Amino acid sequence: LFDLVDYLWSVPVHSEVMNRWRPTSLAFGGDYNPEQWDQPTQHEDIELMVQSGVNLVTLGVFSWATLEPTPGVFEFGWLDDSLQRLQQAGVNVDLATATASPPAWLADQHPEILPVTAEGTRLWPGGRQHYCPSSPVFRDYSLRLCREMAIRYGNHPAVVMWHVSNELGCHNALCYCDVSAAAFRDWLAKKYGRDIDALNQAWGTKFWSQSYSTFEEILPPRVAPNFPNPTHQLDFRRFSSDQLLANYKAEREVLREHSSMPVTTNFMVMSHIKEMDYFSWAPELDLIAADPEPYRELAFCADLTRGLSHGQPWLLMETSTSAVNWQPRNVAKQPGELLRNSMQHIARGADGVLFFQWRASKAGAEKFHAGLVPHAGTNSRLWREVCELGGVLGQLTEVVGSTSNNDVAICFDWQAWWGCELDSHPSSDVKYLDVAQQLHRALTDFGVGVDFVHPEGDLGAYRLILVPTLYLVSDVGAANIASAAARGATVLVTYFSGIVDPHDHIRLGGYPGAFRDLLGVRVEEFLPLRAGATVTLSDGTGASVWSEHTEATQAQIVTYFQDGPAQGLPSLTRHTIGDNTIEGKTQGTAWYLATKLDQGGMAKLVNQLLDEAGVAPIAAGRPGVELTRRVNGPTEWIFVVNHTSEPYPADLSGFDVLGGQTVAELIVPPGGARVLRRVVRPVLGGAS
Ligand SMILES: [Zn+2]
Repeated sequence: LFDLVDYLWSVPVHSEVMNRWRPTSLAFGGDYNPEQWDQPTQHEDIELMVQSGVNLVTLGVFSWATLEPTPGVFEFGWLDDSLQRLQQAGVNVDLATATASPPAWLADQHPEILPVTAEGTRLWPGGRQHYCPSSPVFRDYSLRLCREMAIRYGNHPAVVMWHVSNELGCHNALCYCDVSAAAFRDWLAKKYGRDIDALNQAWGTKFWSQSYSTFEEILPPRVAPNFPNPTHQLDFRRFSSDQLLANYKAEREVLREHSSMPVTTNFMVMSHIKEMDYFSWAPELDLIAADPEPYRELAFCADLTRGLSHGQPWLLMETSTSAVNWQPRNVAKQPGELLRNSMQHIARGADGVLFFQWRASKAGAEKFHAGLVPHAGTNSRLWREVCELGGVLGQLTEVVGSTSNNDVAICFDWQAWWGCELDSHPSSDVKYLDVAQQLHRALTDFGVGVDFVHPEGDLGAYRLILVPTLYLVSDVGAANIASAAARGATVLVTYFSGIVDPHDHIRLGGYPGAFRDLLGVRVEEFLPLRAGATVTLSDGTGASVWSEHTEATQAQIVTYFQDGPAQGLPSLTRHTIGDNTIEGKTQGTAWYLATKLDQGGMAKLVNQLLDEAGVAPIAAGRPGVELTRRVNGPTEWIFVVNHTSEPYPADLSGFDVLGGQTVAELIVPPGGARVLRRVVRPVLGGAS
């Protein structure tokens, strides 16, 4: 799932769509599944779409069995009719290739397409996405349907883009079957130049007598008596991501033969889900249900998604109008929350908000997932809020195409995430997202916007660069971060970063090998804390999870551990980069944090870093209030979303776009959202 949203293949998808499909207004709509409804309801759908301001729907995502009820026999009449009605109503269509859920007949005739778990259990049909991503049989059948769709609808006037499959890898990301095993061996042979010794070196197979004499001996990392080889696991994730990407590309090529429409698919950027195995679902879901501030998760994921599109506008393909159906307890959105959540996404760069789904189903596994039209019908709070949202989005046409200009970046990498959370590590309490989320939260509370950037990405525009828990990093990535500090940026690296290379081999000579010189520290030994244990730092801050034996070789010690296993040793250091004897020379700094601070401590540190880096907030921030900025040439729009029960005086003047008037001081009511337009001088270095 989340792991498939690999940096390398996410970028072209989003940017391609947004470069070739320029919406003239913010997109508003959702998944539309007319095949679930009778004709009168389908006619009513069109009226209600017009009434609520819907202008884009995703059609046909789960329609394979309806479009091809028996092998090779296609029934397109109902889809023709639906497309025609939508076109007449002026509703654009993101047309799915309909390959997301294979029909029953395919699994019946070809059970070999069914995926297999790490334990060796072949999964049955009856849910959805029951196919092995490496299956050539599945590929043949899905491409046949895709071709029929492309030929028939490739130039349809209602269709503005193609939607390949759906949530690729949501349930079948990692398949351990024999077909996958053979494909994995081919992938490895290519990666290691058919040289089995190169693979043995990379995987460190001298340990535990794991050496291979031919590629034929290699299997997927199926359940073994003890920890599978970590590099084997990492390569299997990379392979699995590539296989899903190959499916995407194969469909895209077919579409391109018959259509000039842009092609996309939807990513599942949900920070609570990294692995789609059943071990991780149950415990993680309770956590989500218990999250008292779900808006923070949305903000984090929205920024992360903008990072995937390299800062360009993106499209929120599926979100929920109210409760979802897949948690143990599905909490409904409070009045006003739909608008605030939607504004969060627009504020963070989305050029549209689409929902799953248009009309809540009356049958099936997702029938309790809220839609734009609820079971109660149009005489409902939810429908009235949907119409209100359509109206608000209609007032914000002017922000389409605008981008962000933040001074702060968080380095983020899915491969580091995979590596960080492999088994047999110093502490299972070290979670890849923990510190990233703490940092994001502190910045948001201060009213400072932040971008997510790959460690090898362009860091040139940033004054402050945060590197949380970047366990695995390439030489190029480490050098990229170091050169940002060398040109004057402030850099913060946190514990368990720079530990291994991309083969998951330790960078020797003292941790963190990749950042030792940059940070001016050398860590001799990890001293992780026991479950629930806390320590106190010399400035009184509380910390948990991690401590270590750090020596400040070049850096200055800012705080040290007052107690715990690292008592008296540095917990926070600061290293000045460059020659400070030259007058006027730009000085960068590299800070190192050797423990997990409590949120108060993190806020204090972030404040210190913002100060040093000269980064000012958009306005005085406050917990529960989000301040973000979108820009286009000399114009900027400041979005303020107030999740609190108090009015928020923003101390900002400009044109209140939703209020339709110029204001001397923007006051955002409790639970409200506002957009302030201002014209700023186009000076170097950003807005003034
Ligand atoms: Zn398989």
